[in-house]
Amino acid sequence: MSYVNQQIIAQRGRYVASKSRFVSVVAAAAESDLDVDPLIRIGHGFDIHRLIEGTPLVIGGVTIPFHLGADAHSDGDALYHSVVDSILGALTLPDIGQLFPDNDPRFKGADSSIFMEEAYKRMNERGYRIGNLDVTLILQTPKVKDIKPAMKDNLVRLLRTSDSRVNIKARTHEKVDSIGESRSYACHVVVILEKKPTSPKL
Ligand SMILES: [Zn+2]
Repeated sequence: MSYVNQQIIAQRGRYVASKSRFVSVVAAAAESDLDVDPLIRIGHGFDIHRLIEGTPLVIGGVTIPFHLGADAHSDGDALYHSVVDSILGALTLPDIGQLFPDNDPRFKGADSSIFMEEAYKRMNERGYRIGNLDVTLILQTPKVKDIKPAMKDNLVRLLRTSDSRVNIKARTHEKVDSIGESRSYACHVVVILEKKPTSPKL
């Protein structure tokens, strides 16, 4: 082997060694970062309740005049329940059914704002606040356009956030399946949590 070829091979060896050292340093740094809470977290929540006669319909904390209401252990507020589950999901906590079992007599007929308060408390303690919350309520009847602002006010108040960070969309289910036949109603939520800014040092 010529002297030049020997030099090329030696050079390549040094390059591979330094590259692999660099890769392992970066990997170690990335692994230690996994223990640090990320700046943002995303969560998804979904809930569905059967609609039956003889019980009030409560959605987003608002009691809606209607001949059907949710069949549930608590007040059956699918909007609050899916918001709670989205926040718990973002925080990698157990779901709402595990935290508040539906066979626990303390939660019979419960106002679901207590679950919202608990979700807020856990989010706040972990150092997060609402980045934005996007709600999709799916309900064939009644129309909820006029009560969406009251629902939104409740979310803003309970989650200690602002109007600009909460959106409630409502739609029908095009008369198909149980939701479309008003035998049930459902809700999806996507949330972004963001790390609260730390207070500036004085
Ligand atoms: Zn529910």
